[in-house]
Amino acid sequence: MAIVYLNGDFLPAEQAFISPLDRGFIFADGVYEVIPVYNGHLFRIHEHLRRLDDSLAGVRIPSPCDHQHWRSLLHELVQRNQGRNQSLYVQITRGVARRDHGFPEPITPTVFAMSTELKALPQTIREKGISAVTAEDIRWQYCHLKTIALLPNILLRQQALDQGAEEAILIRDGEATEGAASNLFIVSKGHIITPPKGSRLLPGITRDLIVELGKRYGLPVLEARITAAELASADEIWLTSSTKEIMPVTRLDNQAVGDGRPGPLWQQMIALYQRYKAEYTEDGHRQPETVD
Ligand code: PMP
Repeated sequence: MAIVYLNGDFLPAEQAFISPLDRGFIFADGVYEVIPVYNGHLFRIHEHLRRLDDSLAGVRIPSPCDHQHWRSLLHELVQRNQGRNQSLYVQITRGVARRDHGFPEPITPTVFAMSTELKALPQTIREKGISAVTAEDIRWQYCHLKTIALLPNILLRQQALDQGAEEAILIRDGEATEGAASNLFIVSKGHIITPPKGSRLLPGITRDLIVELGKRYGLPVLEARITAAELASADEIWLTSSTKEIMPVTRLDNQAVGDGRPGPLWQQMIALYQRYKAEYTEDGHRQPETVD
């Protein structure tokens, strides 16, 4: 039985209850994080906790604990659940109060965390890639905050699924920004390009690592705007996230991307990504950037 964390206690998921007056339930007034765990190690934990701080500050929810506390809480959750590879989900809402749009008098935020099994990307995706469709971005103007108000993302993802595709690539003012739950990279004229950070997209932890690896190994990674036309004529398209890593998109809006197979720069980047992951998650290994 899965063990979850709720407001100071570790308990079976079936025994964890939250008030219907919680502002997360009533207003989607909260933020979240998803952290992959490989071989028992919380991957890029420092970066995830920093982004969590930014999301909390962005919606003015007081931080319920410091990084040291988060780390010990999440390590305990990993240990209490089965499996070396896990996906941790952490959610903080503003708390329980009488329903009113304005912030309530200081209340205690609700803190919830759970773990699910993290499955490796299926071999067919590595070999054949996925399909994506473009869709007009219907979300708000604070897409850099990881809030639990995901209804637009849900509708966009479902729009893709209804068309037989796996993900929607979002277009705003003629530019491709990110996926419904992923960041976007294209390969064009020999460059690996991802849109610059800003309020139109989530600053993805995987995205940042790919930019970092590109710089470290001398691959031509650029942060630049991508027009819808550039997306449509890209040689390669990748979508990235903590749980799906780097997925090659081989069909866009029912047309083949490049030659319709995962491209050579994707092959190179996924190999660098796996190497980094292996180094990071070796027992006894401690990356400098994991230190707060
Ligand atoms: N953009 C959006 C909208 C997302 O939901 C996600 C996944 N949470 C990402 C990008 C990828 O972010 P990360 O690499 O940190 O998982």
